[in-house]
Amino acid sequence: EPAVCAPLPVLGRDVRVPLVTGGEVTYAALDYGASAPALQRVWDDVAAYAPYYGSVHRGAGYLSQLSTELFENSRADVAAFLGCREDDQVVFTRSTTDSLNLLATVLPPGTRVFVFETEHHAALLPWERRAGVEVTYLDAPRSPRQAVETLERALAGREPYGPALVCVTGASNVTGELWPVRELAAAAHAHGARIVVDAAQLAPHHPVDIAELDADWVAFSGHKLYAPFGAGVLAGRADWLRDAEPYLAGGGASRAVTRGPGGGVAVEWHDTAARHEAGSPNVIGAYAIASACKALTEADFGRLVERERQLVATLREGLARVPGVRVLSLFGEDAPRVGVLSFVVEGWNSSHFAAALSAEYGIGVRDGLFCAHPLVRTLLGGTPDEPGECGAPEAGQSLNAIRVSFGAGTPDEHVTRFVRAVGELV
Ligand code: PMP
Repeated sequence: EPAVCAPLPVLGRDVRVPLVTGGEVTYAALDYGASAPALQRVWDDVAAYAPYYGSVHRGAGYLSQLSTELFENSRADVAAFLGCREDDQVVFTRSTTDSLNLLATVLPPGTRVFVFETEHHAALLPWERRAGVEVTYLDAPRSPRQAVETLERALAGREPYGPALVCVTGASNVTGELWPVRELAAAAHAHGARIVVDAAQLAPHHPVDIAELDADWVAFSGHKLYAPFGAGVLAGRADWLRDAEPYLAGGGASRAVTRGPGGGVAVEWHDTAARHEAGSPNVIGAYAIASACKALTEADFGRLVERERQLVATLREGLARVPGVRVLSLFGEDAPRVGVLSFVVEGWNSSHFAAALSAEYGIGVRDGLFCAHPLVRTLLGGTPDEPGECGAPEAGQSLNAIRVSFGAGTPDEHVTRFVRAVGELV
């Protein structure tokens, strides 16, 4: 198929790395799922702003005013990118992990949380740490439809009927498979629950429209969205955010602090996003995310999605021709996925395989359990607690997998080099 469009320019395109076999090669970054390279446009925007850097919400000087405006405009740009509803809030955080931990702290008392055991640890673990919150872990579904049915069954059985939150990934960081977010949101709402979408792997690969998905919140990280400057986003319904104690206590979150009765302090907290952004905000991180959002939109995100779909097809077809390669999948090998794919190779330890890809081909992938241990163990043919045959050490196999992931900045050559390298190594 002819290429739909060119990859977007990113940093690091010309980085040369040494090979153990001698010589050097241009590095192929195929670990976008962990952290994507910065878009050139993001880097340029940040560099252009850097001399004007000033404190946000704190200074009277020109650069402070400018930085404050830039920070608040970035919030508006992110809201537009996510299709936020009028009364939604966009809170700048450090990352997806931070966003979901923040959401965990604002849950009304007695909230029941429903989460699939297949989630990334950032989406799996924050809830139980919150006192008074009861978590129901849902079994790994083997199809999108089964995911919806499993959720519906769990929600229908809940007693008593109080606040509830469903947390689900938009695209898996292990298999890259798309989850039926819209259907899950409809099921959640039909049973009086709310839903947060972990869009860490969805937002960089696919437009996310919070209103259209009818999600209550979405969370994502700048460093996976071509903006590695230390910021993330939690966007969505204002009420639980406004009604809760601030995530961090400090300046910026407080509107007024006075001496309270009995010698303590009385605090009036902001009821805007600033409530959960105590401390000096990361204006460069926020601006970088907004820049990436605009770059994706202006490049025509739909064409980038289509281009990535072609690369996924090339990858799938290439790997299918290599004997002993097993692609990990929850919903079936042909299920739609973003540019994220994990696999194991018969007779190979995954860590050795990934090391060989780096040392002999200059290709950077990831090996491991990808911070989704129960899911990867299940996919290796075992249970959420125990790896199965495919991961049995006595068979010379590893307990982990190899993940290849790419996105808007990936040239075709990286994917074809990867497919050739896998074939040659096997
Ligand atoms: N959720 C998913 C699906 C992820 O892939 C990741 C990162 N691997 C996270 C959450 C956590 O993101 P961060 O490390 O940026 O907090």
